Amino acid sequence: MNDAWSHFARANDGEHLVPPGILGQSLWTSIADQTTRQLYAALLKRLRNGTGPARFRFRCDGPTQRRLLEMQLAATVAGEVEFHTRLVASQAREDVSLLDAEAPRSDALLTICGWCMRIPIPADQWLEVESAIPELGLFEESPLPMLSHGMCPRCYDTMLASLDDPNRARSGEITLGALPPV
Ligand SMILES: [Zn+2]
Repeated sequence: MNDAWSHFARANDGEHLVPPGILGQSLWTSIADQTTRQLYAALLKRLRNGTGPARFRFRCDGPTQRRLLEMQLAATVAGEVEFHTRLVASQAREDVSLLDAEAPRSDALLTICGWCMRIPIPADQWLEVESAIPELGLFEESPLPMLSHGMCPRCYDTMLASLDDPNRARSGEITLGALPPV
């Protein structure tokens, strides 16, 4: 974790992620979702077996910003795996309190895909946050549900396919949750 990591964490309610706080902890203590854990485990195994680096773009939104980040994972000769993350693009958005870590919450849980930041609605669709909020009747004056990070079927299938194709995995073509047109 470099200075840019700490700066980003502090600017996004992530004081607990600033070193030395999380240095030395297992990666798995930071990933609660079972599907995401399995996927990272498969990715790390593949990298350590020497199939080459993996690159993918994913969303890392905040209440007032949509962000597309790129992550690259690569094994070192020592058998470690390095994670490099960089900002690809961002968009300003109207403040979405559902994504505000400080907003008051009820006990209800709402799933959000931790890769594309879409939310499932009852019609078996996953929508951008702004579209899902009216569909689910989550009005600003109600206590908001807590967010539980999961993985939507589309992101899961996309990542799984990339595991089977090292060329695609290293191509940088994989995007989970492109920024919507403005
Ligand atoms: Zn997704």
